[in-house]
This record gives sequence, structure tokens and C-alpha cells, in this order.
Amino acid sequence: MGKATGFMEIKREQAIERDPKKRTNDWKEYSAPFSDEMMQRQGARCMDCATPFCHIGMEIDGATSGCPIHNLIPEWNDLVYKGKWKEALERLMKTNNFPEFTGRVCPAPCEGSCTVAISDPAVAIKNIERAIIDKGFEMGWIKPRIPKARTQKSVAIIGSGPAGLSAADQLNQAGHKVTVYERSDRAGGLLMYGIPNMKLEKEVVQRRIDLLEQEGVSFILNTEVGKDISPDQLKEDFDSVILCTGSQKPRDLPIPGRELKGVHFAMDYLTQATKNLLDKEENPALNAHGKDVIVIGGGDTGADCVATALRQGAKSINQFAINPQLPFKRAEDNQWPAYPKVFSLEYAHKEAKEQFGEDIRHHSIQTKAFITDGEDGLQALYTVEMGKTRDENGMFVYDEVAGTEEVWPAQLVIIAIGFEGAEEPLLHAFGVEAQRNKIDAAYGDFRTNIEGVFAAGDARRGQSLIVWAINEGREVAHAVDHYLMGQTTLPSVHAV
Ligand SMILES: Cc1cc2nc3c(=O)[nH]c(=O)nc-3n(C[C@H](O)[C@H](O)[C@H](O)COP(=O)(O)OP(=O)(O)OC[C@H]3O[C@@H](n4cnc5c(N)ncnc54)[C@H](O)[C@@H]3O)c2cc1C
Ligand code: SF4
Repeated sequence: MGKATGFMEIKREQAIERDPKKRTNDWKEYSAPFSDEMMQRQGARCMDCATPFCHIGMEIDGATSGCPIHNLIPEWNDLVYKGKWKEALERLMKTNNFPEFTGRVCPAPCEGSCTVAISDPAVAIKNIERAIIDKGFEMGWIKPRIPKARTQKSVAIIGSGPAGLSAADQLNQAGHKVTVYERSDRAGGLLMYGIPNMKLEKEVVQRRIDLLEQEGVSFILNTEVGKDISPDQLKEDFDSVILCTGSQKPRDLPIPGRELKGVHFAMDYLTQATKNLLDKEENPALNAHGKDVIVIGGGDTGADCVATALRQGAKSINQFAINPQLPFKRAEDNQWPAYPKVFSLEYAHKEAKEQFGEDIRHHSIQTKAFITDGEDGLQALYTVEMGKTRDENGMFVYDEVAGTEEVWPAQLVIIAIGFEGAEEPLLHAFGVEAQRNKIDAAYGDFRTNIEGVFAAGDARRGQSLIVWAINEGREVAHAVDHYLMGQTTLPSVHAV
């Protein structure tokens, strides 16, 4: 274990963040890596408890608790404490194909269930994970692993997000010929277009894609399956197909004025912003510069839109959430080791507070209508406050609070109220069954109703987390390898 008395002697040190006032002048990552010494100190805080809840990877009350890929956290904490970075990297790579992504943007459900967190701030697991993989790249320990033997079997993966990439990595290492189809002009799924550059720099994503290519994975970009190439063609050309197309059908807000120019979905806005950055071009129509911006939706996607609008030079920004503000401490019904549902100031909100002098979030707000500028443009929106009470059955109900109507000036509104599952055209093209746009494929064997066609990631599970997408990519690879070869040596923690 780390240092026997480390958790009593050493305080948790927070990730170093660049100055929230200055960092909005650029698109570089807002967090900076720890020093080796600081990481070793933090590794010493791990108690190596008998039952490491940090890697249980379970759903408790609808939220993830513990690491879903069951990272061997206490083992690498100890190795980092002892300065054995290369050994720590070997342990980390056993369970996580892409720690450079999770170490930067995972919400770290491992830390919520860390035993130290019962009474003290949790071990800084996520930062240690990032430090290990960053050192691995820095020291040149991460090299292309070219498979020694090939099986003559081929697999097509549709979608290059973390689920598709981790499945590709595993199946390529098992010796199969893997081809990834992606409709965008760059691979990475939401890692590339979705999560903004200041959270996850696109060089970090591209570095991993390049590595996979060097290891033998083929990427076919700008190709939408179901439109540019038919499912029948793929089924004929490959021994197996995996659908990893994500859950990107946006939830809409069908209220008066929805058709006005200036009202956009979050994914369109975020994708355009990253494209602008990478292509060094501007799209003035989808840019917050000089505008009053309102982000509807209180989640992480909304926060990413706030941070993006700040960097584009918005005149004002407000973010609406339908739910009341979270408590500052765990509520009675949200005890350890469940994920802590508590108030926090995200990176975007820290930045907005610096810029505008106050928290730009408004809770318990419902948008009722978009107001026209007299032509086809947007001028403002109209809201009312919602009260949350319980009905006679104990269920939560929301009611409008009389006298709280308000009009907010806005020339750009971004709708970030979630996703409704996989997009229908591909489901129809393949003839795969789905329920509420989640592809029907049981966790563990991942088979759809179509022979040889499997599904994994958000397309199967619904909008989730990168770490779950990696879990599903690894697990579907295990199932597909077994399907192709009649046996498999690929790891699975959930094999049935
Ligand atoms: C704005 C935003 C921010 C997020 N931030 C975080 C975060 O900080 N941390 C975290 O853990 N999770 C975050 N998430 C969630 C996380 O990104 C997803 O859960 C994860 O990316 C899902 O991976 P996936 O591989 O299943 O799908 P995706 O990443 O959605 O990838 C699916 C890919 O399939 C492609 N595709 C779809 N249809 C076709 C077709 N017919 N032909 C070819 N290609 C196709 C798409 O273009 C896309 O590239 C965020 C989500 C959003 C929307
Ligand atoms: S992947 Fe996420 S949950 Fe797992 S150890 Fe890393 S930060 Fe924690």
C-alpha cells in the first residue's frame, strides 16, 4: 500500500488549474499536470483498503459508483508512491485502453467511493491516472504494438468514439483486420467533436488515433454507413459488424419560436467551434461573439457551451437548469459509496464568475417561448420559475410559480437538454431492434437481432460516460472474438 499513515498525514492537493481569468483567452487545456513529487505524495494517501470500493463500477441509485473498467487503482497508487512509474503504467494499461482521455475528463466516480472520502477528501485518483499515462508518452514507453499473428478474420466498426476505438484496439490486438467507419472528417467521436479543446486537447485524441493506425487499424472517414455505404455491403465484406454510433439524437424544445434563427442544438454549436479551431476558419452564424447567450440545460454539455461562448467573446451568458441547486453536502439519501450529488463550481462556471462577477447559473427555470425580433431572428426568451413538490404518492412534481415570469435578451440560444438515443436512419438501414432508440443487445453478449451484428457504447446504453464506452468496447471485443474464433483470450470482467 501507499504510506501506512499517509491518509492521516497528507492533505489532498487539488489539480492545478490555469488562471480562470486568463485561460479564456485561448483554447488550451485549463488544467495543468501535477509534478512527480506531488503525485507521489498523493499516491501515499491510498489506504489499500481490504475492499477497494474505488473500482466496484456499479450503478447505485442511477449513478455510477466506482470505476466501471475496474482500474487497479490501489496497485498503481502504491507504485507511483514508490516512484515505479513504468510498472504503474503496465498495471494501468491492463484495464484502460485510453487513460489519457479518462485521466482528463472522467467525472471520477472512483473518487466518490474512495474509502478515505468517508471522512476526508478522496485520494486524487484521476490526476494520478493522468500523470501515469502522460509520463508514459513523455518517456517514450508507449510504442505501437504490432500484432505478431493475423487471423484472416475481419471486423467493421461503425463509429470512432471511445466505444469504437477501444473495441478496435482489442480486436486488432487479437489479430483481426479492423476497419473503423466514421461519418465525420476526423476520428474520435465525442472525444474529437463534442468535448471542447480546453477539456481535452485534440492533439491528445489524434495521437491515439495515429497510434492505432500504426498498429494496423484502418480508419475510413467522411463515410456515413447507411448513406455512403450500405449495411448489406458491410455484412458481405466483413465477418462481423459492431455498431458504436453513439447516442446523438438531440432532445428538442418544441415551444413557440423554436424555428427562429439563433436557436441551435449544443452538439451543432460545439462541433462547429472545434472545427473552427482545427480548420482555422470561422462560422459567424454559429459564433457567440458580441451576443447575449442563453444555454438551456444545467448539465455538463451546457457547461461546455458556456466555456465555449466565453472564449468566443459573448457579451453575456446565462445558463438555465430545470432542477433546483444541489446541496453543498451529501443528502441523507445519497450516502457513500454512491456518487456524491453535491453542488460544485465547474471549470466553465469558475471562468464565467471571473468574467461576469457572479454565478451565471439559474436553477428551477423553465423556458416558455422564444421571442422574435420581428423578422425571422431571435430577440429574447421568456421564462418562469418552477417549484418542486411531492404529490400524494410521494413523486416529485414541478409547478409554475405565479409572478416569476421573466424576459431575457438573447441573440443565441443553445439547447443542451440531453439526448434521445441513437439516430433512427442507421437502425432502420440495418434492421436492428431498439427500444426508445437504444439498440437491443444484452450487456455481456452484445448481439443484436441481426446475425453477426453487435452493438456497444452509447448506441446501446444511452448517453453516458467515456469510461463506460471504454468498458463496452472492451467487452464487445471479447464477445466478437469469441463469435469469430469459438474461443477468446481477450479480457472480460463481465463474461457470462
Ligand atoms: C458535449 C459533451 C461533453 C461530454 N463530456 C464528457 C466528459 O467530460 N466526460 C465523460 O466521461 N463523458 C462525457 N460525455 C459523454 C461521452 O462523450 C460519451 O458517453 C461517449 O463519447 C460515448 O462514446 P461512443 O463511442 O458510444 O459514442 P460517440 O462518442 O458518440 O461516437 C459515435 C460516433 O459514431 C459516428 N457515427 C454515427 N452514425 C454513423 C454512421 N451512420 N456512419 C458512420 N459513423 C457514424 C459519429 O459521428 C460519432 O463519431 C460528453 C458528451 C457530450 C455530448
Ligand atoms: S477511469 Fe474514471 S473512474 Fe476509472 S480510475 Fe480513472 S478517473 Fe476513476
